[in-house]
Amino acid sequence: MANVDVQNVRAWLAPDNTRLVFDISAPVEHRIFMLESPDRVVIDVRNAQLKTEFDHLALADSPVSSIRHSHSDGTLRIVLDLKSHVKPKSFDLPPNDQFGHRLVIDLETPSNAVAAQAASATPAATPVNTTAATTTSEVSTPVAVATPPANGKGNLRDIVIAIDAGHGGEDPGAVGPNGTREKDVVLAIARELKRLIDAEQGYQAVMIRNGDYFVSLRNRVLRARQANADLFVSIHADGWKAPTARGASVWVLSERGASSEMGRWLASRENSSDLIGGVGNVSLEDKDEVLASVLLDMSMTASRTGSREVAHIIHSNIGQFARMHKPNVEMANFAVLRAPDVPSILIETGFITNPQEEAQLRTSAYQQRMAKAIMQGIQDYFWQKPPDMTWIAWRKTQGGAVAGGNRTHRVQPGDTLSVIAVRNGVSVSALRAANQINGDQIRVGQVLRIPAG
Ligand SMILES: [Zn+2]
Repeated sequence: MANVDVQNVRAWLAPDNTRLVFDISAPVEHRIFMLESPDRVVIDVRNAQLKTEFDHLALADSPVSSIRHSHSDGTLRIVLDLKSHVKPKSFDLPPNDQFGHRLVIDLETPSNAVAAQAASATPAATPVNTTAATTTSEVSTPVAVATPPANGKGNLRDIVIAIDAGHGGEDPGAVGPNGTREKDVVLAIARELKRLIDAEQGYQAVMIRNGDYFVSLRNRVLRARQANADLFVSIHADGWKAPTARGASVWVLSERGASSEMGRWLASRENSSDLIGGVGNVSLEDKDEVLASVLLDMSMTASRTGSREVAHIIHSNIGQFARMHKPNVEMANFAVLRAPDVPSILIETGFITNPQEEAQLRTSAYQQRMAKAIMQGIQDYFWQKPPDMTWIAWRKTQGGAVAGGNRTHRVQPGDTLSVIAVRNGVSVSALRAANQINGDQIRVGQVLRIPAG
């Protein structure tokens, strides 16, 4: 007898994982196994019947070529025909604010992760060695090498910025009164930031998430470390019970207690992402390992100092155009900031639950300003403290002590020469001279050299 309904199904495609989420009317017993030639994944669900169809799933870019089902003795059998090899995994999720009981099928596709990472690397970087990393399920480390300087000092690497767009997939993050979802807004800002970073010589951006799918908090930290990131920037947009709460904020990790009640609340909220993602009960041991390494690693002190410094600069940059929630950088125990050796900051770009800020966060103009403020902070910080053997460190020794002497700017819609000049602390005439421009004509996409102050 079939007493559980499979009511709906969603698919979330990540570069290294395809997730199918079945909405079910009650908890079910199930088993999952693989069959070969041809390769398929079989899911048997006891006492269940299918009340939905699979036609609407966009699976073209997934390892699944088709989905079939059949019934026998009350057992619903769902068969996923495969076009490439996967490692299947399944678990169930209890109801939350948005959804009821769910059965989750994860299909891991290790090799795709590498391809996706290679595709997202800047063209200026040396080719990524894809063969070395195909056996791991994590994103490979891009080989970050800047163009060697003209004086032949050998290879200097790029400064690598890991950009972490919060939430994704089954986890929308905070939702605004007009339905704006945090996961979408922060991905848009993250992509804009990546564009700005990749346009700068000496910098390279790595997207921790580059689509609408879920990445566990632990894997976000791991990916940043595997990319040898010099900085981890997590981008979020707050939600709060009252619509009056407003203002952007910048956060660094606190091991002991948050600097405010809201900090405690926010940290517990952002950290609960992992429960929604369904990794809570499978990877607690790994989490403890990460925590243990955090506590043991002596380099943590250095990375925390760096975190505070870059957070402070970005806080004041955002404060130039946005209302800030607090006059200073705040502290809370965000799981995603726990990389022991990578300076890590979390930016709440505004309250999506505040109708005014929700409206702002939706606009690409505001998203661009936010990304620029973050980028400017990154550049100012790394010009002050460039890591050894980076192109920026070398450029600083060549270009004297003037911050920004190494910079370029790719013209954005709405930019004018004078705006670019003011923003970079140079005169319009110096900007004209450095780029051989007469008059005021610039075009979108043009890359301008920013002369030393
Ligand atoms: Zn968030």
